[in-house]
Amino acid sequence: MGAYKFKKLVIIPLLLIAAVIAYSVCNLSQAKNDRIYSNNQNSNEFLILVNKNHPLSSSYIPENLTIPNVEFSPSASHEEKMMQGEAAEQLENLFKYAHKKDMNLYGVSAYRSYKSQKQVYDERVRRVGKKQADEYVAYSGTSEHQTGLAIDVTNEDGAQGRLMVDFGQTKEGKWLRRNAHNFGFILRYPKEKESITGYSYESWHIRYVGVKAAKEIYYKNIVLEEYLGEK
Ligand SMILES: [Zn+2]
Repeated sequence: MGAYKFKKLVIIPLLLIAAVIAYSVCNLSQAKNDRIYSNNQNSNEFLILVNKNHPLSSSYIPENLTIPNVEFSPSASHEEKMMQGEAAEQLENLFKYAHKKDMNLYGVSAYRSYKSQKQVYDERVRRVGKKQADEYVAYSGTSEHQTGLAIDVTNEDGAQGRLMVDFGQTKEGKWLRRNAHNFGFILRYPKEKESITGYSYESWHIRYVGVKAAKEIYYKNIVLEEYLGEK
């Protein structure tokens, strides 16, 4: 076979096959992102799953962000005070109910855009290194703070910047763990579920999933990944 004929019979068809494969792989990953995005547009919008294996695209921005009428820690930025409408309303109810029980809860950080999450992550890596940062801080796109359905909360001491990791041991932290589900929130990263959620225990991070799902998750002692796997 001469060089010209070899090129015509072997190389050109191979290049065509490679192009077709590359095209379909690109389309598949695009379809995956579309599915994740459209997840949040249907009736199950509060059950959107975001974790290290289910990232959001950099362009994902929730539509109805609003600022709940609750107390925030002075460190919270304007963006971090925002939550999706129904989640914001239920957070107000949760905090009001806590107040009736003589406890004051404070918001620390709710919505974070893809860009802000990247800044938080990069900053943590600079301070403690990548390995430790990965345990607590989500890489951009893998944080559910980007959905506007999650919020980190704390008590009076935490709001003053004196406490955070021990929040679960405080009166407020214990109360939150036992009552959040009545308002549609779950403790998203419980103890002993690290291997499923991919994150260390966080007593302060709650996520809105709606009352029905939150109650089922709480009473069955499961996490969102397990809940969705059962459906
Ligand atoms: Zn959080």
